Amino acid sequence: MKALALLLCGACLACATALRAEPYRGPLFDAHLHYNVEAQEPHPLADVLARMQRSGVRAIVANSRPNAGTVGLASALEATRAAGVSVVPFVRLYRNRADYSGWFADESIYQMVLDELARGTPSGPYRGIGEFHLYDSVNADGPVARKLMRLAAERQLVVLAHVDDVAIDKLMAHAPQARLIWAHTGIGGASIERVRELLKRYPTLRGELSYRPGLLDAGGRLSPAWRALLSEQPERFLVGSDTWVNQRWQYYEGLMSEARAWLGDLPPAAAQKIAWGNGAALFGLADLSPPAVDKQVGKLPTAASSP
Ligand SMILES: [Zn+2]
Repeated sequence: MKALALLLCGACLACATALRAEPYRGPLFDAHLHYNVEAQEPHPLADVLARMQRSGVRAIVANSRPNAGTVGLASALEATRAAGVSVVPFVRLYRNRADYSGWFADESIYQMVLDELARGTPSGPYRGIGEFHLYDSVNADGPVARKLMRLAAERQLVVLAHVDDVAIDKLMAHAPQARLIWAHTGIGGASIERVRELLKRYPTLRGELSYRPGLLDAGGRLSPAWRALLSEQPERFLVGSDTWVNQRWQYYEGLMSEARAWLGDLPPAAAQKIAWGNGAALFGLADLSPPAVDKQVGKLPTAASSP
């Protein structure tokens, strides 16, 4: 009887395993990456690029506190090319931790952004502004927040904003044409109905999905509500690592394989858009559609060898 129970149990497990979808295996665009000052000694450039390469990450939105980290990534033209990683540089608003809480009213930060934009990077002009944080949505109406949103719209820069849903309305009111990536699609867990409402109201709004509450169930699979939304509107979402502390770098490959696992729960065309296609389209990168990519993660062709 005991043997039979064990046998049945084993059969169920095999069954459950068979039902799990295959992970997504194509290229990844990491749309939320930081290479902050404290990461650079434990994780030098060669280390972070190797982690991206092992994870099949072929492009990154790079932003760092201070901006020297981004410039470092954007200056390593040969190393990034060899790793097959395109660097999309963003200007971060933070010179230090103190800037997190006052940037929206600090004219010297606006000037710093203008100076960085004028300087550009060795891999090309900055393509966006952020990530910035607003811990109180009322500050989305701060004078520098207004000016930066308008600057982004004027110069076709993408904004990466860690804010709540109320601040999304406020920021978009300053510059309705701005392209805004909502970091974490609301880390406070705005309801899925509210996310739908904002996506509908602002056609240039997109959601990045790291740390998004409710995205996954306890087993690390997509929750039914999120599977439905991502399947209906796959062109509106992106994946990101959010390497805001060194621990996130330490587990970078694991974070990316978690993303690959839940992307595998989506229809393949939707997964491809969220994983790669949307980021590539937003920043005009080459289309790395499946025929250009080896089946095995880790054996992806480098940029140099891509068509
Ligand atoms: Zn972040």
